[in-house]
Amino acid sequence: MTKEQKVVPFAVLFVLLLSVAWSMIPFKFADVVNCKAPLFGATPTNSAPPTSFIDPVKDCLSKGKSRLSVSAVTAFVAVLAGAAVLSFKPISSSCAGGDHESCREWWLAAAMGDAGAGLGCQCECHAVDW
Ligand SMILES: [Zn+2]
Ligand SMILES: [Zn+2]
Repeated sequence: MTKEQKVVPFAVLFVLLLSVAWSMIPFKFADVVNCKAPLFGATPTNSAPPTSFIDPVKDCLSKGKSRLSVSAVTAFVAVLAGAAVLSFKPISSSCAGGDHESCREWWLAAAMGDAGAGLGCQCECHAVDW
C-alpha cells in the first residue's frame, strides 16, 4: 500500500462526517422559514408570511429530503472512490496473468472520468481509441 493510499480511509471518514453534519444542521427555506435539520424531520420552526406561497411543513420536508439525498450520495461516492483507490493496481491480476479477455478493471477508470485516470487497469491491451 502506498503512502497516499494510507490517507484514503481518513479522507473517506472525513467526507462521511461532513455529509452527516450536513444532514444535521438546520436550514432556511426561501430565506423566510427556518427548518430543523433534515435528519430530525425538517419541521418548520416558524411560519411563512401569509402572502408568500410557501407551505412551511411541505417545503421544509422536501428541501430536507433533497439535502438528505445529497449527503447520502456524497457518502456513497466517497466510500466507492475510497475503495477504488485502495484496490488500485496498475495492472489487474488477469492482465498480469496474460488473460486479457477476462480483465474487467479498466472500465472503472473510464466510468470515473478524470478522477479515475490512472486508477483502472493500465495494461496496454486496453489502450484502444474510442
Ligand atoms: Zn491486458
Ligand atoms: Zn486490464
